[in-house]
Amino acid sequence: MNPFFYESLPMRVTFGVGSQVKVKEEVQHVGARSALVLCTEAQRGSAEHVATLLGSRAAGIYDKAQMHVPIETAEEARALADSLGADCCVAVGGGSTIGLGKAIALTSGLPIIAIPTTFAGSEMTPIYGITEARLKRTGRDISVLPKSVIYDPDLSITLPPRIAATSGLNAIAHAVEALYSADANPITSLMAEESIRTLARSLPRLMAAPTDRAAASDALYGAWLAGACLGAVGMAIHHKLCHTLGGTFNLPHAEMHTIVLPHSVAYNREAAPEAMARISRALGGVEAASGLYDLAASLGVPMSLSDIGMPADGLELAAQLATQNPYYNPRPIDREGILELLTHAYHGRRPV
Ligand code: NAD
Repeated sequence: MNPFFYESLPMRVTFGVGSQVKVKEEVQHVGARSALVLCTEAQRGSAEHVATLLGSRAAGIYDKAQMHVPIETAEEARALADSLGADCCVAVGGGSTIGLGKAIALTSGLPIIAIPTTFAGSEMTPIYGITEARLKRTGRDISVLPKSVIYDPDLSITLPPRIAATSGLNAIAHAVEALYSADANPITSLMAEESIRTLARSLPRLMAAPTDRAAASDALYGAWLAGACLGAVGMAIHHKLCHTLGGTFNLPHAEMHTIVLPHSVAYNREAAPEAMARISRALGGVEAASGLYDLAASLGVPMSLSDIGMPADGLELAAQLATQNPYYNPRPIDREGILELLTHAYHGRRPV
């Protein structure tokens, strides 16, 4: 056994079909009286249902959550919480809505109860991101970690299949990088392998039958594990590259993760044999990088960066930006290797 350090984050999780009915209890549990419910415009219906469940503890709904958390929305929502006398936020949605809750918590200290409806995993991390003057600032602060999380598959079954598939692969990316993280430890590695196994078997079932609650439960369970890994240990080349590509070329978050992941894994193949063995085992015995590629391809999602708007002449810049500051990766970062990785991802080639 290699030496390791492990510190668990505070975590209160309620999981199960129909568990959103517990939202009022959870508001009470965090010591709050009145909640502002956060959502996107598209998810207003789900937020209204949660507000009904909250009854007299619902202060109101803010439905302007957006990708990348523009600071203006965070300020507007915080002011609304203030004017309504809300002393907590209930975030009903994916990473963007939970990100809005985090931005509010960062400056106001209002506790968040998260009801995630995608598989992105933000609800399990103390990581926030706020966009100001077109620049996304990210950081870690324990005050933004949701105090309570309700995983209810009834809310994720409405995900359009393409979002479900790419969001699930985004979750797998957290688990994969946790396996070869600089802080990898026996606990997160157990969670990561189980997460990949669970998502790899449930996503194809969800594609075939999007309202299958058993498959949705399985996927949400895998997403929880992956989010917990992301919150607990540092990531590596894959997350660094996606952060760079997302920030510089404004590519859609989950699709980008889906496309780049097999190539990041191929890049690290020789340098992280134990992680590769675990990924392979979780995928049923196939080789890790090509297995992840085949899983994504079987879900019918875009497989190349060119398909999602990456300009061909941006590859050099992306490779340069992703290699200019040193960071941990099992295989040392070299510009040529990263350019090759990105070129494969650009064309959507199957790793060999
Ligand atoms: P998202 O929250 O942007 O949602 C994508 C779209 O799907 C939105 O239009 C939303 O309204 C819709 N949607 C969400 N759930 C739905 C459902 N169940 N039914 C129907 N429509 C639904 O997408 P995401 O992938 O969850 O989050 C991506 C964002 O989260 C990125 O900005 C990323 O940086 C951030 N993120 C942060 C962390 C963190 O730890 N801070 C972790 C993962 C992702």
